[in-house]
Amino acid sequence: MPPEVHAGEGLSPSGALADQFGRPLRSLRVSVTDRCNLRCSYCMPREEYVWLPREELLTFEELARMVEVFTSLGVHDVRLTGGEPLLRRDLPNLVEKLAANPRIRDLALTTNGLLLAEQGEALKAAGLHRVTVSLDTLRPERFLKLTSRNTHADVLAGIAAARRLGFPNLKLDTVVLRGVNDDELADIIEFARGIEAEARFIEYMDVGGAVDWSLAKVFTRAEMLADLTKRYGPITPIEEDSSAPAQRFRLPDGTVFGIVASTTTPFCRRCDRCRLTADGFWYLCLYAQAGVDLRRMLRGGASADEIAARITSVWQARADRGAELRAANGERGVFIGIDQLRLDPHLEMHTRGG
Ligand code: SAM
Repeated sequence: MPPEVHAGEGLSPSGALADQFGRPLRSLRVSVTDRCNLRCSYCMPREEYVWLPREELLTFEELARMVEVFTSLGVHDVRLTGGEPLLRRDLPNLVEKLAANPRIRDLALTTNGLLLAEQGEALKAAGLHRVTVSLDTLRPERFLKLTSRNTHADVLAGIAAARRLGFPNLKLDTVVLRGVNDDELADIIEFARGIEAEARFIEYMDVGGAVDWSLAKVFTRAEMLADLTKRYGPITPIEEDSSAPAQRFRLPDGTVFGIVASTTTPFCRRCDRCRLTADGFWYLCLYAQAGVDLRRMLRGGASADEIAARITSVWQARADRGAELRAANGERGVFIGIDQLRLDPHLEMHTRGG
């Protein structure tokens, strides 16, 4: 456990709660379920998993209370994720509760899109601001190979629904795997442009769950840019003062796209994200080996102030820079093996939320 720090220390220049590197507590990803309806080879390559016990999942009331504590400490961006968040029954009810929290400026959802055509309208009506849809390929046969599911058309229908419903700043996230979908970058940019969405390409990360990961399979940001430059001509980086994980670029025709290069170019020093799992464990980094059990506090009767004090002391002591340490590892291989993942499902990306 990190050392506790004293009140009065640990504030960023803006007055927000800050960690040892001055990183503010601003952004919380809330995983609402560890279940998923895809089996992406880079995330959940097996059929069966050690699932979180259902009785341990936080109820919507508990989740909203927990988010309330985080927002009282400065969090203003909340993103619902999973697993596949749309598998959590009645998700619009949670969205409605969160949308009523005036401190939340950005309430977003990351989804694989499969159930978005069905649920998009209710989510929008409940007050969801934004949607990001994961789209690794435009080719159904590739999708089947990559996800072990024959449901590509549902993803496209979900994206179309998001567009039709008018969610602003629609983003499409693509994990680029060498030899799998690295020849689709331009196609995805064109597809995104056609629906006024922004494509974001993500380097394959060696997070928990990526049990087949190797550096050789990572299609790097440098390779993506080289490939797209060949196709479109000179690409201009966009200078932004942002903590967003994606660095954004502009094509000669003005089209903007992003690249999240956590594997080869980590951005730990400006990472303000943390994650709450569906069963109430709080993780400060995707690479963290241990989390803080906030559910135990909540269900043990701790007050909002007591939980806030715990979050404050942990955040102010935070000094992790997981992706940088991984990148510095000369013999980088699979981060967490299957045996360890089976012992602690919290180590899985699909439990922690992407
Ligand atoms: N099911 C939702 C979805 O598909 O967007 C939300 C959860 S999913 C874990 C969130 C994001 O993490 C997805 O875009 C997924 O592609 C990405 N992801 C999962 N494993 C990854 C890995 N090893 N490297 C990079 N991104 C990964």
